[in-house]
Amino acid sequence: MKQSQLFTKTRKEAPKDEVAKNAELLIRGGYIHKEMAGVYTYLPLGLRVLEKINFIIRNEMNKVGGQEILLTSLQEKDAWEKTNRWVTNPDVDVWFTTKLKNETELGLAFTHEEPLTRLMKEHIRSYRDLPVYPYQIQTKFRNESRAKSGLMRGREFLMKDLYSFSKDEAEHSTFYENIKNSYLSIFKRVGLGNTTYVTFASGGSFSKYSHEFQTVTSAGEDVIYVDEKKGIAINKEVYTDEVIADLGVDKDTLIEKESVEVGNIFSLGTRFSDALELTYVNETGENVPVVMGSYGIGPGRLMGTVVEVLSDDKGIVWPKEIAPFTIHLVRISDKDGALKTADTLYKELISKNIEVLYDDRAEVRAGEKFADSDLLGIPYRFVMSDKLAEAGQIEIKERQSGKIEIISQNDLGAWLKQNAHYEK
Ligand code: ATP
Ligand code: MG
Repeated sequence: MKQSQLFTKTRKEAPKDEVAKNAELLIRGGYIHKEMAGVYTYLPLGLRVLEKINFIIRNEMNKVGGQEILLTSLQEKDAWEKTNRWVTNPDVDVWFTTKLKNETELGLAFTHEEPLTRLMKEHIRSYRDLPVYPYQIQTKFRNESRAKSGLMRGREFLMKDLYSFSKDEAEHSTFYENIKNSYLSIFKRVGLGNTTYVTFASGGSFSKYSHEFQTVTSAGEDVIYVDEKKGIAINKEVYTDEVIADLGVDKDTLIEKESVEVGNIFSLGTRFSDALELTYVNETGENVPVVMGSYGIGPGRLMGTVVEVLSDDKGIVWPKEIAPFTIHLVRISDKDGALKTADTLYKELISKNIEVLYDDRAEVRAGEKFADSDLLGIPYRFVMSDKLAEAGQIEIKERQSGKIEIISQNDLGAWLKQNAHYEK
């Protein structure tokens, strides 16, 4: 894509009321636009990153047998009343509500156990129909009381939510362990592998614990106790001597850290299948409740977290797999030599299926282009000047390390093979 055609502009300052680093940098780079607190629009660059995160999540969910669906935001009350999670329950204070013209009350779903469990009654009859793993990447609405963390706490935000329907506890546990590993792969692929811990958290009525995936960052709102050796953590909510003993960790080695919950997996037992009467006929002909689990990740929160954790004082640093483009080709002269060489290089990269943003803007100073390039955080910056064009060379700077190398244009193919990945 040519930067001269990109309608978004970078800016020097973020809005005054924006306090979160992730939103500041993403707004300044033209990735997102703030509608209001906790409500953000994704612009072309931001949507590219979001879609890459979604691609990784889909890829990992499909590997464990997930089937993608898309449930509705608008909800009537019946199913939710049966589980005691409708608007009138003051413990569930996140509902946004509205009304039909005939006064029927509706809510905008903040999660989807109820409608999906009810829907599955039409499809699950016997043990032959189980297990099954529907999931979606869908917009959730939550009337969060504090929304000051940019993309990390939205009032309208995307969630990947998968729900498991299993015959019994044993089948459920096997899947639960599988998806735990899928989650770890997802966090690794988006660049948060080293800073994300499987964290023991409160489990609800059907299991002792749920598992959260907590990424260490001072921008998070949670506190965890990390056991570095075992690579696990305990959420402060359940940090008691009893739990420490139960998990066999040594209290003296635990380190307190601030973190953000990027994912959460839950064993639900038969809480929802009992309430909504989702049963199946087992091998011996009995009618028994389906055993369920739910598994959430926020793609937007993940994007915000990557910015919090990996950016530096110059701007964003995207890991390759979720960067909006792999290469930022920056032309710093409008004269014939640089212009022709850069245009040719741009075409060549495109023909090789490399995602490239070409800063072809005329009459913009080199310093400004470089500052924009650092802010945008694309993994490799290719510079083309008159001098480099004449010498048949390209200057390449790696955004993360700042390392600069100069290669001959003839060696481009070999360089790409080593550094840019082709698979789409
Ligand atoms: P928190 O405790 O941070 O409010 P939660 O426990 O209420 O989160 P879940 O219901 O477990 O969140 O949602 C599953 C996942 O969806 C979370 O792990 C997180 O990645 C994402 N998520 C939850 N709330 C938000 C939000 N307000 N904005 C963006 N992502 C969110
Ligand atoms: Mg949670």
